[in-house]
Amino acid sequence: MKKSMTVVYPVGSGLYVNLTNKCPCNCTFCIRQSAKNEFDHIETLWLEHEPSFEEVVQALENAGVPSYKEVVFCGYGEPTEALDVLLRTADFIKSNYDVPVRINTNGLGNLINGRDITPLLKGRIDVVSISLNSSRPEIYEKTVRPVFREKAFPALLDFAKKAAAVVPSVILTTVSTTITPEDEDECRRLCRSLGVTYRIREYEPLTTS
Ligand code: SF4
Repeated sequence: MKKSMTVVYPVGSGLYVNLTNKCPCNCTFCIRQSAKNEFDHIETLWLEHEPSFEEVVQALENAGVPSYKEVVFCGYGEPTEALDVLLRTADFIKSNYDVPVRINTNGLGNLINGRDITPLLKGRIDVVSISLNSSRPEIYEKTVRPVFREKAFPALLDFAKKAAAVVPSVILTTVSTTITPEDEDECRRLCRSLGVTYRIREYEPLTTS
């Protein structure tokens, strides 16, 4: 596997940040599975090492943040696995640029860090996008294959609810055509009960979660 130091990369009008390759999941659809074959032509997001805060700042400055409509923590891993650098980077962006900050996450940040991290998102993060995948825990677990097993799905829902109390926009997503319309209806109902937005998104080949 080819490794490099692609710390930031553009996707559409957003500047994406690749903080880590760690993730407690092994989603059946994750581009990390396919990057060895059909995505060989793109620059790999496997990192030589996790970037330090200073390396992330340098990469953001080189990329020219003001020419993008948002900064998105995403990459080839779960951003909350690199919580300290994530929070420091969000502070840096908020202090230096007028651009919204989003996290694309698997919603397991509280399990990963062993504590409720949602209060730390306040004032730093504008949008939290969480990959829900299904309203049914058994389908979620088969699709996401989290190391936390049956603890993962309820933890994701709890994370979403707590994040919604401090972050302006929390969105739970499923990928178009991957679940039944009945499951999508149930996801919609579930999101309403949590006070978050439900979005059916298209598969994006350059993003995870
Ligand atoms: S899609 Fe996201 S949560 Fe799933 S394995 Fe890939 S990086 Fe982890």
